[in-house]
Amino acid sequence: MGLFTKECPFCHHTVFRPLYWLHERRHTKLLDDGQMTDHYELREEDRYKGSLEGVPQVYHHEKCGAQTGMPEDIIRSYLVKPDLYSPYTFCVGCNDYVPHSEVSWVETGESLMFI
Ligand SMILES: [Zn+2]
Ligand SMILES: [Zn+2]
Repeated sequence: MGLFTKECPFCHHTVFRPLYWLHERRHTKLLDDGQMTDHYELREEDRYKGSLEGVPQVYHHEKCGAQTGMPEDIIRSYLVKPDLYSPYTFCVGCNDYVPHSEVSWVETGESLMFI
């Protein structure tokens, strides 16, 4: 990456740095349900490629009772690089991002806080 370019963490294209904020808006634009258009993810070849058996994929938000499934490409990125993600995650019940401390994995009962 050069001084004036950076790799977009959403789509991995090389973006002219001074215009990155403009580019990023395309990814972070909120959809009708309140979720961002795109989320950070690793390049396909860098994502976890093993079996997802036994890996929790659905989390439960205590406050509203809703369960949200984490998309597979995000899970596969998250397994390799958990720190890619902010301490907030989307809740389909609230139509908003909620702190990890308020959600837990349905499969294991573990808090998402361990990230
Ligand atoms: Zn991008
Ligand atoms: Zn919720």
